[in-house]
Amino acid sequence: MADIKLHDITKRYADGTEAVKHMNLEIEDGEFMILVGPSGCGKSTALRMIAGLEDISEGELLIGDRVVNNLSPRDRDIAMVFQNYALYPHMTVRQNMGFALKLAKVPQAEIDAKVEDAARTLDLTDHLDRKPANLSGGQRQRVAMGRAIVRDPQVFLMDEPLSNLDAKLRVQMRTEVSRLQRSLSTTMVYVTHDQTEAMTLGDRVAVMRSGVLQQVDTPRVLYNDPVNIFVAGFIGSPAMNFFSGTISGDKLKLPFAEVAVPEGVSHAGEVIVGIRPEDFEDARFAPKDHPAGFEFEAPIEVLESMGSEIYVYFSFQGGEVSSDELAELARDSGIAETPSGGAGLAVARLNPESDVRQGQRAKLWFDAAKLHLFDPGDGSSLRRAKAEQEAAAQATQEAVEAEGGEAEGDAEAVEPEAEEDPPARAGAEHDDETTPE
Ligand code: ADP
Repeated sequence: MADIKLHDITKRYADGTEAVKHMNLEIEDGEFMILVGPSGCGKSTALRMIAGLEDISEGELLIGDRVVNNLSPRDRDIAMVFQNYALYPHMTVRQNMGFALKLAKVPQAEIDAKVEDAARTLDLTDHLDRKPANLSGGQRQRVAMGRAIVRDPQVFLMDEPLSNLDAKLRVQMRTEVSRLQRSLSTTMVYVTHDQTEAMTLGDRVAVMRSGVLQQVDTPRVLYNDPVNIFVAGFIGSPAMNFFSGTISGDKLKLPFAEVAVPEGVSHAGEVIVGIRPEDFEDARFAPKDHPAGFEFEAPIEVLESMGSEIYVYFSFQGGEVSSDELAELARDSGIAETPSGGAGLAVARLNPESDVRQGQRAKLWFDAAKLHLFDPGDGSSLRRAKAEQEAAAQATQEAVEAEGGEAEGDAEAVEPEAEEDPPARAGAEHDDETTPE
């Protein structure tokens, strides 16, 4: 087992495309790290550089304290599973799984033991003597993973391993991959474009956009505290709603409401406001006496009943947002408009008992304490920026007090990152949420 460190890694292809730009990422020993982002964001390139399948143009890559920039894939002690797992059709499952070890001239008895061990882990024992043609898609994918497991590598690298499976099987295999990673405790880097897969699988998730790493954190932090509008819009389904708003004094004006400016925001003028669908509710089911609750009326254009919840799309006048980040997200998801907000429509997730009707006006409610605010200039989160400044100011104050002096100077000179969730603790938190039954 080993940790992986990417120090200022850049990949420039021969035609000048910079697929990965100055990427810094530390993956802990035994950690399950997901690289996620829209198509073309550079996640496969990053994985292939870790694997040794692409040269690194600039920067340094370490696997377990060894600089591996110039090592060939076979000398890096890694195993990869791809989307196209291509098994040898004329070989049995047993032979497919043991093939790499056979090539490496491992004694047959040892190969047999390792294959049988991996087959037990993957629930393939009964299929060891079958040919791939006689297996289901999920079983074939498990054989592909078995081939990787028997090699007992320091690191597993997976590139969209589930994307060829149908939706139901993908969900099932997701649980299996998660269980597998936990039982092997081997460092795993997993690439996907599917944010749901990323959020349910990873200890931590690294979100990329156009070759640039945007944010690395636990699924919970990415969801609750995205650093910018891109991460906010990418993580979560249905996506966060965006509205343009204006702050004047202590009031924030939205297309359908005027609420108090959330605490910790010292911005004035135009802002982009994000509200997640679940922070809306049918006013009938809203928590009573919620200090930041706000009721409003809106026409319900579309209603989708999901059984356990209802999604309603309500329209609003003015306040549509246009931004490069949102346009990119919309392109990637194949939606013509920016994710909710662009077309004057917003999506709200309501109690399944709600009796709001399509085509009628309804009384809705939202929790103004859960608003996300972004700078319309660069898309960065305003609440987070403020939180970081406060953390930095606090750290400065403490440092000064520790030295017995008086606070002076620029609070922002102190690195705020130290105040963030330490990965180990955050990872453990995440365990509670997503460990499959
Ligand atoms: P992702 O895996 O996120 O979909 P990739 O890492 O495959 O993205 O690609 C990142 C960017 O690099 C894309 O713009 C892609 O077109 C470009 N790219 C990938 N491979 C090559 C190559 N061999 N030569 C030039 N550009 C490439």
